[in-house]
Amino acid sequence: MKRNLLLTPGPTQIPADVCAALGRPIIHHRTPQFQDNIKEAIEGLQYVFQTKNEIYLLASSGTGAMEAAVCNLLSPGDKAITVEGGKFGERWTELCKAYNAEPTVIEVEWGTAVDPAKIKELLDQAPETKAVFVTLNETSTGVVSDIEAIAKIVKETSAVLVVDAVSGLGVVDCQTDKWGVDIVCSASHKGFMLPPGLAFLSVSDKAYKVIEASTNARYYWDLRKSKKAFAATDTPFTPAIGIVVALCESLKKFKAEGIDNLLANYGRLAEGTRAAARALGLSLFAKDDCISNVLTAISLPEDVDGGKLVKTMRDTYGISVAGGQGHLKGKIIRISHMGCIDEYDILTGISCLEKTLKELGYKFELGVGVAAAQKVFNA
Ligand code: PMP
Repeated sequence: MKRNLLLTPGPTQIPADVCAALGRPIIHHRTPQFQDNIKEAIEGLQYVFQTKNEIYLLASSGTGAMEAAVCNLLSPGDKAITVEGGKFGERWTELCKAYNAEPTVIEVEWGTAVDPAKIKELLDQAPETKAVFVTLNETSTGVVSDIEAIAKIVKETSAVLVVDAVSGLGVVDCQTDKWGVDIVCSASHKGFMLPPGLAFLSVSDKAYKVIEASTNARYYWDLRKSKKAFAATDTPFTPAIGIVVALCESLKKFKAEGIDNLLANYGRLAEGTRAAARALGLSLFAKDDCISNVLTAISLPEDVDGGKLVKTMRDTYGISVAGGQGHLKGKIIRISHMGCIDEYDILTGISCLEKTLKELGYKFELGVGVAAAQKVFNA
């Protein structure tokens, strides 16, 4: 019998007790019982977001939180800055355009991170800029941005800093309050180890003032409604009840392990994966100075068909990894090391990668990838 191991950058593996919580009978959301869940979820999220800001729960995937940020902050014609170094950076630009705002796009070579000085330059040129939209972990390339440095710059201006931490939160560091990030968007199905369907975003006082002043039309994503509900430990519409209940279970694990330990452990899994790729003679897509611990994007030799590699690993051996997106389709694979996985899952993934690469005719010594990862894990 085949198992299905998810080494994909979302959805991720869900722990057994979180799965069990998802199977509990549904409760009504306008009850003191569910209010306890909301309270627990918000407190736990504040711990992971490293913030005292209010956090709003939305029934949607991660893009819903991103759209909520855009449509609440920007009025038509407003200036914004977006950073495009991959698929998800592009999404910020698309969202801004959808709401008739005017984004200035910083195009970054895929596999590299934005130079914060470029953001400063644009903010100096256009001090009326309402918001700067960046990505913590660019999932299409495996690059992590220097949010701390970017926040330092944006903090000195009237612009609001919005971070897409959909895949990064709880996996790589994001010190919302200490660094001064105004809005952090995330979702249930990545680092939080839950099914998709729940998104969340934290909102600073500075951001909320811009939200109140915005003239843009909005309804379901209206964060003024979320704020009002938040004050009453409620949500404006029917929440994703089952996922909120399970979120409380997942958040207990963050507290029990401690965020710093969790991040360090993901770092080790990432290091082992990178060592395995290098030992196999493969290069890493992201540059060393911005390589992410969320996932490893591995460039494939020209004669290896990336689509076939991913399909064989999944359909023949039950190990799901992700292929490339956009112009990287077929050219890279992306192995995620987030969610409920450990070093043995990574070793399984690497050994499956080796087996499949051999079948596809790539020449290397069988076992070298697994051995390299083992060395990191046993150091
Ligand atoms: N941003 C990033 C960095 C992501 O990885 C994803 C999902 N892969 C999204 C946004 C979009 O999230 P969703 O598919 O949940 O809407």
